[in-house]
Amino acid sequence: MPDNALKNEPRIDPQEILEGIVEWIGIESPSHDAQAVNVMVDKVEGQFRALGLSLQRIPGRDGFGDILEARTPWGEGKGILVLAHLDTVHPIGTIEKELRVRQEGDSVFGPGIYDMKAGGYIAYYALRHLIRKGKKTKLPVTFLFIPEEEVGSPTSRARIEEAARGHKYALVMEPGRDGDRVVTARKGVGRFIVTVKGRAAHAGAKHEDGRSAILEMARQIVRIEGRTDYNRGITVNVGLVKGGTGVNVIAAECVAEIDLRVPDPRIAEEMTHWFLNLEPIGPDVEVHVEGGMNRPPYQKDGGIADLLGKAQAIYREIGKELLDVPLTGGGSDGNFTAALGIPTLDGLGADGKGAHAAYEQIYYSSLMPRTYLCARLLETLE
Ligand SMILES: [Zn+2]
Repeated sequence: MPDNALKNEPRIDPQEILEGIVEWIGIESPSHDAQAVNVMVDKVEGQFRALGLSLQRIPGRDGFGDILEARTPWGEGKGILVLAHLDTVHPIGTIEKELRVRQEGDSVFGPGIYDMKAGGYIAYYALRHLIRKGKKTKLPVTFLFIPEEEVGSPTSRARIEEAARGHKYALVMEPGRDGDRVVTARKGVGRFIVTVKGRAAHAGAKHEDGRSAILEMARQIVRIEGRTDYNRGITVNVGLVKGGTGVNVIAAECVAEIDLRVPDPRIAEEMTHWFLNLEPIGPDVEVHVEGGMNRPPYQKDGGIADLLGKAQAIYREIGKELLDVPLTGGGSDGNFTAALGIPTLDGLGADGKGAHAAYEQIYYSSLMPRTYLCARLLETLE
């Protein structure tokens, strides 16, 4: 065989993958900046169009960017749904300050590189690799790019669930974990807003007439935080508190926002019921609670274990061992697909660390195995 025949054989090239990822992270796309996210959507749309996929772009609403759907023109029946989000948590300008794009040894830094532009790009590259090799997937593949996952996918949840019902598998390109690990279970996520109404009064002249909403909230916070139970896998965090109008005024109102994580639907229901029925502790105050679960628990069932088994067999082809992480507290769009009973494999993106942090990075050495895994899953799932 002549030398150049081998050179022309399409291969998974980590340098080429990295260049593509760097292009994507160069387009900063914070969830709340619809225009910026749509520039990213334009980029991805153009790349999938060039691969010959059928595209559908659903206009954004409520201040968020567009949803992009790209589907292979081949294959019939229920196929593979690939989920990725194009938004990041980092505000515009992060790339010029704390997260300049740079490589230090095996680590490559940049805003949203780990969560999860590397993962989205890997999925694109994996399909492109198969096409370049003249291969088709056995099943049709739909790529769904989400504009606002980092704020809980409020405008795309319905579309994700609708798409999931029409597919046999879901592959979620969220960041890989702790070495060669993927995600097969995630806690459910709940959000609650507690509003306390007290009675305002002058803190000096009429102290006894006041009913402090802040004092009541302080008591409620102790009670709410007390529901964290690591043994049962329940965590509660009062993450935001706002109250009062002045230091010499007894506060008439106080609002707190709470994050809840639960391992299964039964506990989700128990905790939701508990929150929505919070009673006042002190006299003459009112407590109102709004909210509920915004991501259902994602539990590892038989279908998910089988899908993991297939991924593990693929990893063995390149001499590597693939494992899954124990139940993780972080939610993703995989929660929606898994809760509908669609075998869902998550955490298929690049390995790295520092999601949402100023040291966010991927490991260059994970690009080849992760792309191989994605390409072979697309190729072999049936
Ligand atoms: Zn993510």
